Amino acid sequence: MRHDDCIFCKIANGEIPSATIYEDDDFRAFLDLNPATRGHALLVPKDHFANLFELDEEHAQKAILLAKKLGTRMKKELGCDGLNLIQNNGEAAGQTVFHFHMHLIPRYRDDEAGI
Ligand code: 5GP
Ligand code: ZN
Repeated sequence: MRHDDCIFCKIANGEIPSATIYEDDDFRAFLDLNPATRGHALLVPKDHFANLFELDEEHAQKAILLAKKLGTRMKKELGCDGLNLIQNNGEAAGQTVFHFHMHLIPRYRDDEAGI
């Protein structure tokens, strides 16, 4: 279920290198190319789903559990003060890469992330 013309399929499956912070059989999390804050990461399934509307329940459950696990790790390791989970679906909502992904954005007191 990999799409030849999808950049996140290639990153998730290791065909394009990325700054990976987590990997298992079904998901990869890696640093965003254009980070809103220090440690901004993207969590993506290895299978291709365009967005939340297409995501199956198993991946949806796993994504939120991983967001909790990785967010907790970020708090410990980066010392962030907060965390934004952001997930855009469809062009109208600001989605630019059409492979489901969840933004994990560590927040620091007085950071100036324009989110
Ligand atoms: P969206 O607007 O679709 O929710 O977010 C797409 C995100 O993917 C953006 O934050 C953008 O910086 C990031 N991004 C786009 N292409 C690449 C890439 O090739 N590598 C990485 N690491 N991040 C990317
Ligand atoms: Zn894809």
